[in-house]
Amino acid sequence: MTIAAYNPRHIPEGLTELSSLALDLRWSWHHGSDSLWRAIDEETWKATHNAWLVLNSVSGEWLDTLSNDETFLALYQRQVEAHRQFERTSTWYSDEYQGRLDKGVAFFCMEYGLSESLPLYSGGLGVLAGDYLKAASDLGVPVTAVGLLYQQGYFRQSVTAEGQQLEFYPYNDPSMLPLTPLTNDDEQWVRVIIPFPGRQVRLRAWKARVGHCDLLLLDSNDPRNEPGDRGITSELYSSNSEKRLQQEIVLGIGGWKLLRQLEITPSICHINEGHCAFALLERALDWQNEHATDFETARLATRATNLFTTHTSVAAGFDHFPPGLIRLYLTPWMNEYGFTMDQLMGLGSSSGEHSLRAGDEASINMALLALNMCGRINGVSNMHRKVTQTLLQPFFPRWPACDIPVESVTNGIHTPSWDSLESDALWTKACGQERWRRPLPSSCPLSDIPDSDLLSMRQAQRRRLVHYLRQRLASQHCEHTPGNNPDAACGLLLDNETLTLGFARRFTEYKRPDLLLSDPDRLLALLNNRDHPLQIVLAGKAHPKDECGKDLIRRWKAFSWLPGAEGKVVFIEDYDLGVAAQLIQGVDVWLNCPRHPWEACGTSGMKVLVNGGLNLSQYDGWWAEAWNDSVGWAIRPGATFEELSTSNSHDHSDALELYELLEKEIIPEFYQLDANGHPGRWIERIRSSMNGLTATYSANRMVREYVESFYLPMVELGNRRNPTSARDMVETYRDVSQMWRRLRFTSVEARQSNDEQTFFVDVYLDGIPEQLVAVELVAEASEFGPRETHMMTMNHPQVGSEHGYSYECSVPARPEGHYTPRIRLRDERLNLPLENTAVLWRN
Ligand SMILES: *Cc1c(COP(=O)(O)O)cnc(C)c1O
Repeated sequence: MTIAAYNPRHIPEGLTELSSLALDLRWSWHHGSDSLWRAIDEETWKATHNAWLVLNSVSGEWLDTLSNDETFLALYQRQVEAHRQFERTSTWYSDEYQGRLDKGVAFFCMEYGLSESLPLYSGGLGVLAGDYLKAASDLGVPVTAVGLLYQQGYFRQSVTAEGQQLEFYPYNDPSMLPLTPLTNDDEQWVRVIIPFPGRQVRLRAWKARVGHCDLLLLDSNDPRNEPGDRGITSELYSSNSEKRLQQEIVLGIGGWKLLRQLEITPSICHINEGHCAFALLERALDWQNEHATDFETARLATRATNLFTTHTSVAAGFDHFPPGLIRLYLTPWMNEYGFTMDQLMGLGSSSGEHSLRAGDEASINMALLALNMCGRINGVSNMHRKVTQTLLQPFFPRWPACDIPVESVTNGIHTPSWDSLESDALWTKACGQERWRRPLPSSCPLSDIPDSDLLSMRQAQRRRLVHYLRQRLASQHCEHTPGNNPDAACGLLLDNETLTLGFARRFTEYKRPDLLLSDPDRLLALLNNRDHPLQIVLAGKAHPKDECGKDLIRRWKAFSWLPGAEGKVVFIEDYDLGVAAQLIQGVDVWLNCPRHPWEACGTSGMKVLVNGGLNLSQYDGWWAEAWNDSVGWAIRPGATFEELSTSNSHDHSDALELYELLEKEIIPEFYQLDANGHPGRWIERIRSSMNGLTATYSANRMVREYVESFYLPMVELGNRRNPTSARDMVETYRDVSQMWRRLRFTSVEARQSNDEQTFFVDVYLDGIPEQLVAVELVAEASEFGPRETHMMTMNHPQVGSEHGYSYECSVPARPEGHYTPRIRLRDERLNLPLENTAVLWRN
């Protein structure tokens, strides 16, 4: 099928580049072209923020008129030139690393939050993927992202007068989304075909342009598919696990096949969450075919350049599928490669050969599959790295949690997508135009910006927020509220000068949206303080199946009708990127109070930084790294997750701390004026937060960290794995695991001299080459010092004993029994112990 029928409307000569401008989602963060879209169709632009829709909803006559309008032409020319300039200009990547990732990075994710006009996301994970992609474009990193085009996406929310959440699934008409069908050189629409039981599923491919990067999307809504299959990509996060599995097959297997069909062989495959793990399998099997090897060789060769990022904090968050379902859906595909169900179970089920916990339920765990197929794995904050180490502990049974090879890259947000007009102006003054496209220079202190500028920026932003809230409340039929006062319900009591607290996120139990409600009288007193009042804006969706989350919305709605709260607490429906952008620009304080340690990272609080909003947050996720006394407020600062269970035992004390912080610190500080009539301490705090945190918690920093600490070294390691060397390694380690079970310590001795101990350890290696082995002394943290690991030196092979070796090492003295010797593998060609978990402890 060609796509002539799809071709967009006729564009007058002289404006031909409007289409490509409208199809580059760069307009979603680079506001230079706003005036252009406004000039074409202000109403549509304001309502949708979708430049492509703007272009396609006006008449041909109007475009003809514009093509003869000098003012418009000048505007158009400026944008065309700016876009050419953007495409030509060198980037951080092209300056520093050009060619090092020449085949590019493939990035897989279930959802992408790039713009409210492309509703292919539900929340944090998608917004992060969108921000990652935009920052990759800014930095010039060659990323091709792969995802699904949902016919409906995530549900849209409204809330009835009784506080009940209603869910709607409006249809995403692809021709009205800023996308084009992906075509090949012959102008044919690219399609991917994957085998399903008794049939084939055809996938249509689409492309969204995100500055320098592409986002490729697959959907199954091809009329030639069976009706049920057309619906595979209908909605995001369906609770039906069969549909979930179908989607993950389409994304992972279909996604990798799509790249190959386009002749893309990425240098790196980065999967964002375990949902996409099938991509790693397809990659290995494809490599196996191409190089005519066995699967283990292919797995070893490809995994070095697979990165697995996990965002989950509880084991139940990993997707599991029953083997029956897997067998049904994957057998036709596995048959094509001669891959077997046993092999798959070995990789993905916790009773398989690569997992080490025996007798467990045999479902396929997508995180475990990812773990067995990747070369590196990372969590999304330092705290989350530790949480992940404990989650993965069952797969590394003889390793202490702290040795489990999980790294961390703290998430960040795409600053230019989240700054306000006013903060943009202020930062431009301090640090120049192009600041977010490069590492932020350390020499652009906001300290030169006068207090009064910061203050008027904050005031302007708050005023705009109040205005926006009133508009939204009007469109939410505020006049039909069960309360007594329609004016209040419509936001007319919201005040431009009042301290404004924001809370917006998924309404689900662990996020504790009700923490602030736990003492309603105390909250009412804060709202109604005559001299130092508070107002609150809330937003958030509850998953359609989450009754508890829906009840939390009901409780807030009911509270907001109480006479003392009416008009001071407002709930904005249908939280999405557009709502988020308005809230995070305007609020003074952003509240986040999840149950510790459930927040893997949390990103919404990072979005207020650039705009001078302050964070009041649980000491969890990113805030546990970012917080200090001068930048904001932490609930239970210093909490470490080791001391905490996942129970609700801290809810009460956390709520008390939250009220105390508001009453004793936050509210007084906001209203306390210095000799200049400014809230001096508040402004000082804004300055510390903006200065100290904005660049660190940006996606710019995050993407550079992925490139420099992961992608580049991973490519180096991967380059050492060709079909021959990979096969050699597989054979070597097959022998090693045979011999490993006969390894033993033959003697361990320690001699004390002053404050040093010298250990002599003899081991029997049963033919494992000595260079592949490390003998270590490990002391756990105790009153005698922190945890220590010392590598012992091999002194000599033991005389008269084949395969016997003597090791020695001097260490700071500790009481007897504190040092334990262990034998592990050592091979710089492998990432250990991820790729081989062998270890022997001398108990
Ligand atoms: C930033 C954002 C999120 C993620 O926020 P968290 O703090 O991680 O909960 C979710 N939804 C939207 C619309 C966002 O903009």
